[in-house]
Amino acid sequence: MKDILSLIKNSGLRYDSDGDAKNFSGYKGGGKLKYIVYPETLEDLEKISGIVRRSGVPFYVLGGGFNTLIKDGGYFGLTISTKRLKGISAKGNTLICGGGEFLPKAAAFAAKSGLGGLEALGGIPSTIGGAVYMNAGAFGSQTADTLLWADCFDINEGVSIRLSKEEIPFAYRNSGGVFDGKIIYSAAFGLSESTGAAQKTEAYIKERLDNQPREPSLGCAFKNPDLYPAGYLIDSVGLKGFRHGGAAISEKHANFIVNTGEGTASDYFWLMDLAKAMVYGEYMIELQPEIKIIGQ
Ligand SMILES: Cc1cc2nc3c(=O)[nH]c(=O)nc-3n(C[C@H](O)[C@H](O)[C@H](O)COP(=O)(O)OP(=O)(O)OC[C@H]3O[C@@H](n4cnc5c(N)ncnc54)[C@H](O)[C@@H]3O)c2cc1C
Repeated sequence: MKDILSLIKNSGLRYDSDGDAKNFSGYKGGGKLKYIVYPETLEDLEKISGIVRRSGVPFYVLGGGFNTLIKDGGYFGLTISTKRLKGISAKGNTLICGGGEFLPKAAAFAAKSGLGGLEALGGIPSTIGGAVYMNAGAFGSQTADTLLWADCFDINEGVSIRLSKEEIPFAYRNSGGVFDGKIIYSAAFGLSESTGAAQKTEAYIKERLDNQPREPSLGCAFKNPDLYPAGYLIDSVGLKGFRHGGAAISEKHANFIVNTGEGTASDYFWLMDLAKAMVYGEYMIELQPEIKIIGQ
């Protein structure tokens, strides 16, 4: 593997090294990101593709990190942060957003432009790319509902591709792997005219604030199994409020593992393992993680 840092430096890309989890993961705990690049343009994405192909370095596309846990040993691959892939505009009823735009900002922009369709998603901490990749959803709505297309750049092949909604095998909290190895740099949503979108968005946000913890977390640690919500199962085995190290199973919502101060990724895993074991012991249901894990 070629010296990554010198390849990055020679490329002229914006970069950072040894990024702290406090700034890159919603949990605000875990290890460091060794190399981070911040593409802004398609030309930057081509440069990153060149670095990856020349060096063979593994890479991870990081949006807001609200669903990403970095193991305590850190991630030594190349982190491609979407932070600088910005821009929101509306053309008629179509909303076009940069992959790194914050979903709540896009929903607020849509509402202000008299467009409805994103209200229920307006409080989800996510970038646009993260929401498309995860098919993020709430209150019975999901990202796939209004998505028209996603423009992405295939890092391994060095080409840009537009995928229409019909070409993306969306399912519960996933997009079927079609974006693996790719970076979503822009997405378009088909919305409808609405006068009450701003009020509706506010109401959804209020409901979330009333029912979700405020401490740093990654949202739901586990996917909801078919029969019961994971939070209900974890609560029913008596784990609400259970602490380990600097992490705890939230008192407010048992599917949230929160950082109570100095929580490590190991603390998070310890509580995940406990919840999995106890729920399996009681119900013979195997909880599956919803979060993404990187590092060593
Ligand atoms: C307090 C709280 C509440 C939450 N509530 C909800 C909720 O109600 N509903 C819900 O669905 N989720 C919820 N979540 C989880 C999280 O908000 C979503 O999973 C969100 O979509 C993650 O977006 P992100 O940009 O932070 O993604 P990241 O954590 O950065 O990445 C998640 C995955 O998406 C990929 N990815 C990110 N950006 C791109 C891109 N541009 N191109 C290609 N791949 C990309 C990453 O590689 C990774 O595999 C919550 C989280 C928190 C902390």
